[in-house]
Amino acid sequence: MTSKIKVQDLKKNYGENHVLKGIDLDVQNNEVVVIIGPSGSGKSTLLRCLNRLEAPSSGSIVVDDVDISDPKADINKVRQNIGMVFQHFNLFNNLSVSENITLAPIELKGETKEQAQTQAKKLLETVGLADKFDAKVQSLSGGQQQRVAIARALAMNPDVMLFDEPTSALDPEMVGDVLGVMKDLAKQGMTMVVVTHEMGFAKEVADRVIFVDDGKILEQGKPDAIFSNPQNPRLQDFLNKVL
Ligand code: ADP
Ligand code: MG
Repeated sequence: MTSKIKVQDLKKNYGENHVLKGIDLDVQNNEVVVIIGPSGSGKSTLLRCLNRLEAPSSGSIVVDDVDISDPKADINKVRQNIGMVFQHFNLFNNLSVSENITLAPIELKGETKEQAQTQAKKLLETVGLADKFDAKVQSLSGGQQQRVAIARALAMNPDVMLFDEPTSALDPEMVGDVLGVMKDLAKQGMTMVVVTHEMGFAKEVADRVIFVDDGKILEQGKPDAIFSNPQNPRLQDFLNKVL
């Protein structure tokens, strides 16, 4: 197995607030890693460091052999290879669905409009929204918007996808469709790091579950071990609250 992402002793402070306190994390090619942990424990900060939306305070993050903590690294290139999906979709509301999906491939990868639209159609099919190509973003439900956001990220042909609580802002009846798209991606071998409170998804799809608390990884393992036989008292406590 090859490491896709290698994080060593990652620390992130906001002033006096020590948010990440030394994270070591290896993500293998094709691996699905699910990160769980209480609110405020640093999960989003960790994901945001992985594609340099945040600069680490110290430590190293190597993605595909590129040290992205090096200020000289070509961050735009790194980001093209790492797709990110946020809790609040972050779509461009004034653009159509197809414009949202084709914008980055046209602007950043130099694709023609026709190439980008052909791919957008395919991606919309894979997320179950083939009929929404020309739709306005505002006309879509939250679950549909999130699936467009996934299609938009995939349009850059990333080889890693980061998901930060992608279903937390959705009405319950929308959650299944979004998780279904993510499951399909995992089956196709996408390397994924997913922060979620959907423990069912973690049990079913994760190769490895990581419990983060107070800026540290306190426990990690296969979903079976984490959910059926948690060792750390803080993980036991967390699972008692969420399960
Ligand atoms: P989680 O995603 O696990 O809920 P976060 O990574 O969002 O946790 O936040 C962890 C801590 O970092 C919180 O105390 C939060 O207030 C702080 N924090 C996150 N982002 C920023 C920021 N941009 N500036 C200052 N503090 C931040
Ligand atoms: Mg968060």
